[in-house]
Amino acid sequence: MSVVSAARQGGDAGSLRAVLSALAPYAGLLAIALILPFVSNDYWALIGTRAAIYWVLVSGLNLIVGFAGQLAIGYVALLTLGAYTTSVLVAGKVGAPVPVFVALVAAGVVGAISGVIVGLPALRLRTFYFAMSTLGFATIITQIALAWQSVTGGGIGLAGPEFPAPFNTAWGYYYLCLGFAAICTWMSANIGGSRFGRALIAIRDAEVAAEASGISKPRVLIAVFLFAGALAAIAGGLFASLQTYITPDAFTFDLSVLFFIAILIGGRGSILGPLLGIIVLTILPEIAAPLAAWSTFLYAVLLLVIVLAAPGGIAALIDFKNRRPLAANRSIVPRPAALVATAGKALNRETLSLRGIVLHFGSVRAIDGIDLDVAPGQVHGLIGPNGSGKTTVLNVISGYYAASAGTLTLGASPLPAGMPGLRAARGIARTFQTPRIVGEASVLQNVMIGGTIAGKGTFLESMLTLPRHRRDQRELAAAAHALLEVVGLEALAEVRADRLQHSELRFIEIARALMLRPDFLLLDEPAAGLSSEEILRLGVLIKAISLRGTGVLLVEHHADLIFDICDQVTVLNLGKVLAAGTPSEIRAHKEVVSAYLGG
Ligand code: ADP
Ligand code: MG
Repeated sequence: MSVVSAARQGGDAGSLRAVLSALAPYAGLLAIALILPFVSNDYWALIGTRAAIYWVLVSGLNLIVGFAGQLAIGYVALLTLGAYTTSVLVAGKVGAPVPVFVALVAAGVVGAISGVIVGLPALRLRTFYFAMSTLGFATIITQIALAWQSVTGGGIGLAGPEFPAPFNTAWGYYYLCLGFAAICTWMSANIGGSRFGRALIAIRDAEVAAEASGISKPRVLIAVFLFAGALAAIAGGLFASLQTYITPDAFTFDLSVLFFIAILIGGRGSILGPLLGIIVLTILPEIAAPLAAWSTFLYAVLLLVIVLAAPGGIAALIDFKNRRPLAANRSIVPRPAALVATAGKALNRETLSLRGIVLHFGSVRAIDGIDLDVAPGQVHGLIGPNGSGKTTVLNVISGYYAASAGTLTLGASPLPAGMPGLRAARGIARTFQTPRIVGEASVLQNVMIGGTIAGKGTFLESMLTLPRHRRDQRELAAAAHALLEVVGLEALAEVRADRLQHSELRFIEIARALMLRPDFLLLDEPAAGLSSEEILRLGVLIKAISLRGTGVLLVEHHADLIFDICDQVTVLNLGKVLAAGTPSEIRAHKEVVSAYLGG
């Protein structure tokens, strides 16, 4: 039995335990919510219902703010839109009156479309600019609600929808909203834990790495905007009914702030944290009723306290498993022999070729007419002093920069510039000179990010955990575990990546790149920061990667590593090729020796 399958079998009982302990807090919350009607009064029904409705909205918004890191602060706009759509349809203000559940579905559709409209600027605008655009949308919706009197009742407002029995009592409605909240928790947790959720956090914390892994930011974000928009508008419909009567005043900016802060104090990239956050923020003003006028101030103080005392939010406070100290003096021992069993052989026979590539940054000629061939199954070393253009060559190959002259081809076909997200599908993977890792995700999740485009299930299938999604999860986790064994990090699979040493991050990046089963692997100074022993092991690993058929382009400063494992070496100086040949030719090259090797 192989090491891999032994670990897998040992892992099944462990993963069942992990699943159960992950479910426990949700089960506990649900139990409390179900008991609430028997131990309290109608006043708490109202608070509980409100928390449930807010969560319906926040569960979707959380994927945008907490996972994707987009500052959508004007989300009350979609709540407003949903509230009015539902109320107007049920009241028969346009056409015949519509049953309330049908109206909720319609609100969901309107919300999904509007969610994309509100979200689209995020594809171009960053941080505060995007935040402002969502605020603008909120203002527009309120103004329309005020101005379109014949339909919305203007400033006077209109009645919220009524739900039929058994949902027409305080507790009946509470159970209905609780049901919505539970389903939303389930769906958003499904997405959060899927390849789409991992893609979102990769976009947030390591956007270039996400791109290099073939993740399409527009596609993932639009799917999430649809989802979050629909949930927010459905929450609006539920909210309108709870209010019994709605006017534009009911949808204050404070509400938007509340949603946003619930996510911030909950913790980025968590489902449970923001859920607890919204519960706390809904109950807080009630138990501190005399302070109601101070609620904005209270939120600000709470936020400050959390930011100062627990920067990771509630999620980090309750993340007990990452409190355990890690073994000191860890050393990385890759097991490259398992690589072919894990990633198979690369079948590519084509060569990656650069001809006469020129690239300027302003007046700096970063690369100045470079020819380079990376053949399948070979390790090609790229060396040269700092600033000689090595990283720039990698960036041209991976499509970040467009060369101003020259051609870049894979076999007979050109590799277009400016589309780094498409390189992964062409079999080109890479690592970065400064590791690009999602610090708040586990080591395993970081590696799984590399396999995002290998998944087959759609967003909808992930949302509902349909079979193809479950197969993706299984296969990606198995491949990532196996590759962590190959690079020697399997013991740290469940550890949060920002707790690792710098040298370990380099090996995570290699494992992540290998998830693509790449035909070509571009490594940018992978040995920087490694101990001499680890460099030797890295060399063996790189050699094994090339033996599976991958062409490796290795940028490195450690001459020993280069001469040990390379089949070909190109030496750059000031953006030009100073010398190219086999390691022994390079070692005998007079100019290289005197200028660079210092011998
Ligand atoms: P190396 O990786 O060999 O150390 P680089 O490829 O990073 O070198 O840089 C080559 C040259 O291009 C350097 O002079 C560097 O200052 C310049 N350069 C690299 N990237 C940029 C950029 N984005 N903007 C302007 N100049 C750059
Ligand atoms: Mg560099």
